[in-house]
Amino acid sequence: MSALLLDGKALAKKTEEELSARVKALKERGGSTPILATILVGDDPASATYVKMKGNACERVGMESIRVEMPSSTTTEELLNKIQELNDNPNVHGILLQHPVPEQIDERACFDAIELSKDVDGVTCLGFGRMAMGEEAYGCATPKGIMRLLEGFDIELQGKHAVVVGRSPILGKPMAMMLLNANATVTICHSRTQNLDSHIRQADIIVGAVGKPEFIKAEWIKDGAVVIDAGYHPGGVGDIELGPLKDRVAAYTPVPGGVGPMTINTLIYQSVDSGEKKTA
Ligand code: NAP
Repeated sequence: MSALLLDGKALAKKTEEELSARVKALKERGGSTPILATILVGDDPASATYVKMKGNACERVGMESIRVEMPSSTTTEELLNKIQELNDNPNVHGILLQHPVPEQIDERACFDAIELSKDVDGVTCLGFGRMAMGEEAYGCATPKGIMRLLEGFDIELQGKHAVVVGRSPILGKPMAMMLLNANATVTICHSRTQNLDSHIRQADIIVGAVGKPEFIKAEWIKDGAVVIDAGYHPGGVGDIELGPLKDRVAAYTPVPGGVGPMTINTLIYQSVDSGEKKTA
């Protein structure tokens, strides 16, 4: 069996064309250009790269970005003040606070200070709660990107057993709620889960969000499963041992080029939506 490649890069590119047209139409209607404010605190090179990639994606669709950079010594209060300033700025339609922030900062308090209508990365407790209850809210970008990828490739979720490995606030937990809302039967696994492999063996859909290279073994995954790998590690491997699976699963995300491009794409997609709502 040849597996379906869940090509996030291709889907993101196609969506960018649609988003460019929407941004152009918005400007022609007299609306303002959607603006995403990105906040980078500290000098972590990986975070700097992610923020740069997000700013570049804004430019590709005709949006603008405001890049805020703050030193590693930033306090919670200073970051909260900056977020408030961006909340109050009517020209800013979305705010991205790059995770993780330096450890002296109360990241949760800072995420939650982002105004709901500007929470285009889907990181606030309020947004999470609303999403979980099926109310309108922007989804957390990585899991929402995964949902858009599954939808884009017509992957059936209803009644399927989805196993999510990882329960972080920005990935595993919202992922599980989104799959549940799509009528999958969901198992969430984490570091204290016993007999992890026995849960994974039951998965029709497996989401790897552990943060450890090839931690989830190919032999734990059943034939015909849909394999979603959120991880990306040096050497171009993810959280799942993908190599042996490519001939016997139904579908899988490549690493890189699967989940990553959809995360950025979802951030941009939700920022354009926020810009449109401001003009409507
Ligand atoms: P995280 O905050 O470190 O969370 C890791 C999760 O894995 C935790 O819930 C942890 O359980 C669980 N875990 C750790 N060891 C385990 C074990 N032995 N067995 C079962 N579960 C275990 O990481 P994250 O931010 O969610 O990221 C997860 C992965 O996704 C990483 O590879 C990251 O690079 C990737 N990621 C990708 C994107 C993208 O855009 N492509 C975005 C974000 C993250 P506990 O809760 O019990 O500690």
